[in-house]
Amino acid sequence: MLNGKTALVTGSTSGIGLGIALSLARQGANVMLNGFGDIEGARAQFEGLEIEVDYHGADMAHAEEVVDLVRATEARFGGCDILVNNAGIQHVAPIQDFPPERWDAILAINLSSAFHSLRAALPGMLARNWGRVINIASVHGQVASVNKSAYVAAKHGLIGLTKTAALETATTGITVNAICPGWVLTPLVQKQVDARALADGVDNAEATRRLLGEKQPSLTFTTPEQLGALAVFLCSEAAANVRGQAWGMDGGWTAQ
Ligand code: NAD
Repeated sequence: MLNGKTALVTGSTSGIGLGIALSLARQGANVMLNGFGDIEGARAQFEGLEIEVDYHGADMAHAEEVVDLVRATEARFGGCDILVNNAGIQHVAPIQDFPPERWDAILAINLSSAFHSLRAALPGMLARNWGRVINIASVHGQVASVNKSAYVAAKHGLIGLTKTAALETATTGITVNAICPGWVLTPLVQKQVDARALADGVDNAEATRRLLGEKQPSLTFTTPEQLGALAVFLCSEAAANVRGQAWGMDGGWTAQ
């Protein structure tokens, strides 16, 4: 379905980004990976797929590196057709204790990087009159939780950016949408499970039950594979008129 297309997925060396990159690759898209950590381990997962994979180490905290990532994708593959803004970090603390430098980093990586990548990728998409932009927001783009001020502000902002970009491209072959996962068991969330286990003096299984039980009625995690399947749908022709949506996959979290 996506043969000949190229997908740039930011923060795709682990978790949701890697799951989405793999799902798009299985549909035939070439992939530009980005992120830190186990880069070779991430690349290895694409072995055997008849697509091309490359990697760029841009730090999403820096605008010029974001632009360089888009330009490198265009130079390597001849275009950036699918842009998945996924890189994200978290910091949990009440506002009065929230370090200002963590606020700045979260706003830069979780929100501003999506503006910079969109700004860089849109001209090429407009020239080809085809594009899919998928911003990985969160339930925290729709509702708040305590102690996550920067994350909630950034994710609400990302949904606002999604809507604006969708309107600006509404008469073109480019669609812009957000996906809003609830809890997904990735390294980002495992840290929060660990913190909960420590704070409550319980084991990993009980901390997981408590975390899910508070917010996610399904009591199960959403998986990167399920989010990948939704991303594939948003890239399909069937989704050509899905524009400016914040699409939940949250086990019922925001239905409450
Ligand atoms: P993760 O920690 O597993 O992966 C984050 C990815 O971003 C990694 O590849 C990491 O290397 C990369 N990254 C971090 N900082 C970066 C930077 N400065 N520059 C480039 N890459 C950077 O986290 P995840 O849970 O897979 O989260 C992915 C996205 O999904 C984030 O935007 C997160 O907010 C969102 N999300 C996650 C959940 C969840 O429950 N896990 C829920 C809703 C939304």
